[in-house]
Amino acid sequence: MSLPFDLVSDTNRVCAERLAQILKNPGFVDYFSDHMAHATWTKTEGWTDSRIENYHALQMPPGTAVFHYGQEIFEGMKVYRHSDGSIWLFRPEMNARRFNRSAIRMDLPELPEEDFLTSVHRLSRIDEAWVPSGQEMSYYLRPFMFANDEFLGVKSASRVSYLVIGGPAAPYLADGLTPVDIWVTTQYSRTGDAGTGAAKCGGNYAGALIAQREGADHGCSQVLFTDAATHTWIEELGGMNFCVVTRDNTLITPPTSGTILEGITRDSILTLAPDLGLTVDVRPLSAKELFSKALDGEIREAFACGTAAAVTPIGRLLYSENNQVKTVPLPQPLGEATRTLRNALVDIQWGRAEDTHGWLSEVRQSS
Ligand SMILES: *Cc1c(COP(=O)(O)O)cnc(C)c1O
Repeated sequence: MSLPFDLVSDTNRVCAERLAQILKNPGFVDYFSDHMAHATWTKTEGWTDSRIENYHALQMPPGTAVFHYGQEIFEGMKVYRHSDGSIWLFRPEMNARRFNRSAIRMDLPELPEEDFLTSVHRLSRIDEAWVPSGQEMSYYLRPFMFANDEFLGVKSASRVSYLVIGGPAAPYLADGLTPVDIWVTTQYSRTGDAGTGAAKCGGNYAGALIAQREGADHGCSQVLFTDAATHTWIEELGGMNFCVVTRDNTLITPPTSGTILEGITRDSILTLAPDLGLTVDVRPLSAKELFSKALDGEIREAFACGTAAAVTPIGRLLYSENNQVKTVPLPQPLGEATRTLRNALVDIQWGRAEDTHGWLSEVRQSS
């Protein structure tokens, strides 16, 4: 039986003046919208108790399992408002499937795809006033699930909460077009062979924060990780996938074989690339090859991609070798391929280009 996610409480809407003020300068989800979706899973009853209700603080005893062992997964997706006022999700079924792959890896219960989709559609529809219409602005949705038993034994949850919250978002990294510097760490790993790298779980992010600090100490806004076993192979950033473009217009990105998260933006870009004159080559790329080919001009462009920032051009790669910081500038920090791919993607998302792949899912028609 599918979950209805009916609206059960609606007594807390922000006033129009305040909302207009928030939407002018929302940051990246500095504010949350009026409602949230909620469902509960128990070992004996399965999924029950679905609802949309006022956004509110949760009350949980300190002994709640998630606080101690981090059995938790999440998703990140956006709702886009087109110029005719209609609002749309981008490939939400991909998020639903990935949520379940993450659930399986973290030994959490799967949520039927249909229920995931109902929850994000209903919340976006109910809080549609929160979907901004400004340039590159969106409403960011955060579905998540966590162990909600009260016990300290190390065992999988028999009671789980699923929630969806959301809020308006300006572009994640400045204007999204200014090239950023990236710290390539060989000191820390995000994940390892047979680890949780392919799952969207909080622990992966918590474990990456120290590397991010190391990067920030060197003026870098993001960190690029190499494989844990040998620190030879380029994997991905803390929350974005990584691609380069060569002089002969080949787009290279490492394969997502267990340690790298299967980004929906990455998948979309690999699908769009051939139509834009790029050859796609999914293959392992060593840090050594990356640095030497960027230096001799064979690799021309590099970018990071993910839902939050779409496509982020990379200006320079920094790394440490024998206690010295080396800098590798990309020959074309915001090159033609990066720009063309970015535009092709965001133009579909914001309804400025035809959705030939059928990636958009309508939340609300134009009025
Ligand atoms: C979410 C995420 C991505 C990007 O995935 P999208 O579906 O494109 O947003 C890439 N890497 C990691 C580690 C992530 O958590």
